[in-house]
Amino acid sequence: MTEKMYFILGVVAVLIVLAGIVLMSRVRSARAGNALGAVGLVLAVVLMLLKQQLLSNTMLWTAMAVGLLLGAWMAARVSMLGMPQMVALLNGLGGLASALVVYSVKTPASSPFEYYAGLLALAIGMVTFSGSMAAAGKLARLLPQRQVVLPGHSVLSCGLLLLMLLTIAVWPQPVILGILSLVFGWIFAIRVGGADMPITISLLNSTSGVAGGVAGIAIGDPVLTCIGAVVGASGLLLTQIMCRAMNRSLLKILFSTGSTKSEAKGAPAAEPGAAAPTEAKAPEADLPAILRSAKDVIIVPGYGMALAQAQAAVKTLADRFAELGAKVRYAIHPVAGRMPGHMNVLLCEVDVPYEQLHELDDINPDFAACDLVLVVGANDTINPAANTAEGTPIYGMPVLAVAEAKWTVVCNLDTGPGYAGVPNAIYDSPKTILRLGDAKESLKQLLQMLN
Ligand code: NDP
Repeated sequence: MTEKMYFILGVVAVLIVLAGIVLMSRVRSARAGNALGAVGLVLAVVLMLLKQQLLSNTMLWTAMAVGLLLGAWMAARVSMLGMPQMVALLNGLGGLASALVVYSVKTPASSPFEYYAGLLALAIGMVTFSGSMAAAGKLARLLPQRQVVLPGHSVLSCGLLLLMLLTIAVWPQPVILGILSLVFGWIFAIRVGGADMPITISLLNSTSGVAGGVAGIAIGDPVLTCIGAVVGASGLLLTQIMCRAMNRSLLKILFSTGSTKSEAKGAPAAEPGAAAPTEAKAPEADLPAILRSAKDVIIVPGYGMALAQAQAAVKTLADRFAELGAKVRYAIHPVAGRMPGHMNVLLCEVDVPYEQLHELDDINPDFAACDLVLVVGANDTINPAANTAEGTPIYGMPVLAVAEAKWTVVCNLDTGPGYAGVPNAIYDSPKTILRLGDAKESLKQLLQMLN
């Protein structure tokens, strides 16, 4: 294949990936966008095989077949609960692949520009790999989910970064650089915890693309450079969107020391982790009447709905409310669940109409006027402490204004704090009715009250 043909087809592959991303930004066309993006990437791989005349390389085909089977097996096996960890794992492997590509092809014969680009890709790729492994470990609860701040954490991070830059500039030793980058990525990711994890994950998604793009420069491959740049830029945009949604500055997230719940000013005094079941504030007998008379219902799903796999039960209950003449909407917080779009995917799975899903900014003004809010396994995203409890991991994050509703029925497992570990005063509100236990079971009981 000629250079020109490779370039033209490469541009086509990049445009296909871009079109896929555009389609993914709308719920209705997201599936098609995902498929289109995959087609663009397969085209890029085929182009590379043709250009480098690797079609007869048995080892490569074997490696691709193993990767394909492993990927398909993991994707088929993973539950929606394991999805966030899998995404983090795939980001990390993308970074590692870029680092290894560069490591394997670098020879002293390369131009200085390519050589240094190669070292940069190695560093970014390794940081992405170890950072993503730490993030996946946190999401899978194999590592502490809170912030882990080591003594002198900032000094350590800055020192490592400086050493990495010096290694690239003065003493280019790929192995040493790789090790420094691995350590840097790890300590960078363990420092972020609580409610800020989504931002770290989208940032690592972006760095995996940047690593690919810089690797493309290092090996002189324009298609890899362009596709890496697209992934890097879209990840960065997502990071920016998440920062805005959470009212956070990226630098603060990466370098803040945070605080523990007990230090926090304004946080309710409940013992974190203590799940003292409180009795419902309204008499139990009132609940069926409250449910039946509700004409405007907002459902707030959270990570607990994913854990309970209660999305079908939510839909059944919502349908029943609609049969009784109620208007039903869903309030989707941008960081609900454990990955961007987590709630949308679960609700889409059970055919909740897209029109009923509303984002935080759109629906927040409506809570005060609605008759009933039904919280299903949500905690941090409805915690009013985010408005007042300075120093807590959720302080400053916009939350769903559930507290303003006439009645709130909370179907959570217990009254313990959510992911960020901040006690939630919503449980103690006189307008809150608690239905503690597994959400699926609680929803079944609510449905019985409506039948
Ligand atoms: P939270 O994790 O804050 O709260 C979930 C609630 O559901 C908890 O009270 C939990 O109880 C409860 N629960 C657990 N199991 C069940 C069950 N079977 N039935 C009913 N309830 C159950 O969820 P939110 O969605 O409100 O907030 C998401 C949090 O995750 C935010 O802090 C966000 O920043 C963070 N995050 C989000 C990511 C994203 O991209 N969306 C990525 C990483 C982190 P218990 O605590 O006792 O288990």
